[in-house]
Amino acid sequence: MFPLRSNTLNNASYRGVMRKRTCDILSNAMRKKWLIGFGIVALFFASTAFAYSHVLWLSTIAYSDFKQISDNIFIDPELNKHEYERILTLIDESKSRIRNTYGSFTALPVVVITGTPENAKRYGLGVFPGKAFAAPWEEYVVVKFQADNVDLLAHELMHAQTREILGYWAYQTRIPTWFDEGMAMQVDFRERYKFNIESFSKQEINRVKVLSRPSNFWTDSKEQDIKNYRAAKAAVQKILSKYSPEVFYSMLLEVRHGKQFSSVFNE
Ligand SMILES: [Zn+2]
Repeated sequence: MFPLRSNTLNNASYRGVMRKRTCDILSNAMRKKWLIGFGIVALFFASTAFAYSHVLWLSTIAYSDFKQISDNIFIDPELNKHEYERILTLIDESKSRIRNTYGSFTALPVVVITGTPENAKRYGLGVFPGKAFAAPWEEYVVVKFQADNVDLLAHELMHAQTREILGYWAYQTRIPTWFDEGMAMQVDFRERYKFNIESFSKQEINRVKVLSRPSNFWTDSKEQDIKNYRAAKAAVQKILSKYSPEVFYSMLLEVRHGKQFSSVFNE
């Protein structure tokens, strides 16, 4: 005979078993969800940590073997005193250039000067001569010693100044890339970015004003990137010509406090 016990469960114990099974199924489903969720979060943090590992390195620069030569300037230990004193002079010149153009320089970024390819890579430069990194807790400007010049330093320091005025959130979310780069380009006097503003193509200015994200401002073509920088420089130069530096900064503050960039600057 077939055992009937499983079929002869009274209703109460049947409900009990079913409840337990449902609970088991639910807890398995929950467990699975938790595992997937945990996996996604772990992957997210792992990839974020990898993508932003240079920011993690930068945030621990004070505990590295870099020489801290002032409150916020760190120099690769491979560079000698003569070399880093020259860098200090260049940083001062860069700040003066920003003051001459915008009236003031109030940012206090952590400046890291790298001297070796390993450190350039570790602190996020890769093949680039200089970069500014905005972390929620700090602004960092990293420059390769070998590529140092006032144009480059002034450009990157101006990014730090823009972030200083706007604050981290508005800087990341409310300012189009062409405008951020155009502001930095006002203090970048390199020959290839020179032009006559009166005869600069209006079409080029209109073209660059739709490049609002880093992903469409920078391309795979160096020539195109130079065109974008030139057009961004011209576009912001036109805007700056309408206002005094104080008014211009105060307009940025309005964006910081929640107004739309487009309504403040009519762009
Ligand atoms: Zn830039």
